[in-house]
Amino acid sequence: MTTKIKWADRVPQEKIRALYKSDAKNFQDSELADEVGCGFYARAESIVKVNRAHNTATAECPNCGADVVCGANLYACECGWNMTAKDYHDTYRKKQLVGGMYVFAKKFMSDWEHAGGDYSKKMLAIDSLIHEFHWHMDRFVTRPVAINFIEGKLASVWNLIIELAGYSKETYKEKMESWLKKSKDTPWLRELIEKGSLHYALLP
Ligand SMILES: [Zn+2]
Repeated sequence: MTTKIKWADRVPQEKIRALYKSDAKNFQDSELADEVGCGFYARAESIVKVNRAHNTATAECPNCGADVVCGANLYACECGWNMTAKDYHDTYRKKQLVGGMYVFAKKFMSDWEHAGGDYSKKMLAIDSLIHEFHWHMDRFVTRPVAINFIEGKLASVWNLIIELAGYSKETYKEKMESWLKKSKDTPWLRELIEKGSLHYALLP
């Protein structure tokens, strides 16, 4: 019986950066696109499953794949697998898998499934997810959702997203001003700015 629950890791920054660099040179590296896309897909799948368990107390059985509803603080599947609600919670605690970002995860999964074997469509799916991260960073005061999908500390993930946007220096200055305004009510953003952790690098 398979009883081990394993959640997908976040996607390494260097893979994403390498993909964008090769794409910018009009080189269609399908293998790299698959590595990044499948990485995001696995992570998105984990996010969707964890949020469903977290919000509706319905887990997927690691042994047979059936939906198991928690009863009396226990997940008990007909196939024999069981786990206490606390132990199940411990499998995803502090792994940045819980939150509203499951909406982005679901959308990416659908985009990726529809991309099939087409490099351009795969790239569109990935870029659309990266774009959602931007959109979220511009509009919300909560921690950027990119951190739930991409490896690294908050500041480095933030910087990567900015780098991928390819803003001109002028646009970046404008953005920084709006973040500065926003940071008055956003302790984590204020901290990043005060520490000088946010920087800007153009892709070569
Ligand atoms: Zn089962």
